[in-house]
Amino acid sequence: MKRALITGVTGQDGSYLTEFLLGKDYEVHGVVRRTSSLDRSRLKHLFSNPAVYGRQLFLHYADLDDPTTLRRVLFKVKPDEIYHLAGQSHVGLSFEIPESTCDLTAMGTLRLLEMIRDLPQPTRLFHAASSEIFGRPSESPQTELTPMLPVNPYGCAKAFAAQMVVVYRTAFGLFTCNGIMYNHESPRRGENFVTRKICRAAAAIKQGRLKELVLGDIDAARDWGDARDFVRGMWMILQQPHADDYILATGQAHTVRDILDLAFGTVGLKWSDWVRQDPRFMRPSESAHLIGNPGKAFAKLGWRAEHRFEDLIREMTLAEM
Ligand code: GDP
Repeated sequence: MKRALITGVTGQDGSYLTEFLLGKDYEVHGVVRRTSSLDRSRLKHLFSNPAVYGRQLFLHYADLDDPTTLRRVLFKVKPDEIYHLAGQSHVGLSFEIPESTCDLTAMGTLRLLEMIRDLPQPTRLFHAASSEIFGRPSESPQTELTPMLPVNPYGCAKAFAAQMVVVYRTAFGLFTCNGIMYNHESPRRGENFVTRKICRAAAAIKQGRLKELVLGDIDAARDWGDARDFVRGMWMILQQPHADDYILATGQAHTVRDILDLAFGTVGLKWSDWVRQDPRFMRPSESAHLIGNPGKAFAKLGWRAEHRFEDLIREMTLAEM
């Protein structure tokens, strides 16, 4: 039985990855901050299952900004694979709290790499990097070789962390990998991300619980995929004979307008009757042309995004109903 350790286990990706790895018969160890609320967590169904929790799934309290706690867990668990998903993951918020974003996402990853370097037994690390490292890239779609040009604090933190993962791989020979992941969504997405925000609002307006939806830039475009495809990709990246970096993306861009069309269409409403734009939700600097070329992941891993964008938005909207 392989043993996996997941940071950020209570998040969208952490919860799907936990289910995926349990399905592959892994022993799964999740790292949670003391402040995380487990009650309402996406993993509640597993915590409350005595056949799983305490037998195949374990939780440990540790914090990326409290290295001793995390080191202790690493030495105790001795994981074969580490999935590093924790971090402040909201781009808009990173403009408000740049220092803590960088401390957790950039320095937190470096601290973890330092711990891995000291481990007596070899382990494999997957780092959740982000398309935001490309910011406003010189080419589109991007590949693993496209230069990094982040335009927000979150992107800067992820660029630092991703490059450190490469440095530890090449300088110290560690099995450390980046998944350069484009936006990926699901009914478990955080409520302040635009897909979930729109799907939630469409359902609430339909049911008379909300009067209007206030958004930022509705012409913004992203390469939106399905989180369940992405966690499968994370695992595949760590099963390779050699450590490497891979873009995980659909290769197709959609706009916020497309989400509005699909979500409001699902509940039979015209979005233009209900949506207002407000500069409050505009970003001080907006990333652009973020479309990933998943060619390498397909050629080397056999990975491709299987869920369709249209089905995803419909599912997310229906889940809110
Ligand atoms: P991100 O790509 O990681 O920043 O994911 P988000 O879901 O937060 O934002 C995706 C895109 O939607 C960005 O270009 C945002 O500027 C745009 N957007 C437009 N209105 C909103 C809004 O009200 N909330 C959020 N979160 N994003 C919005």
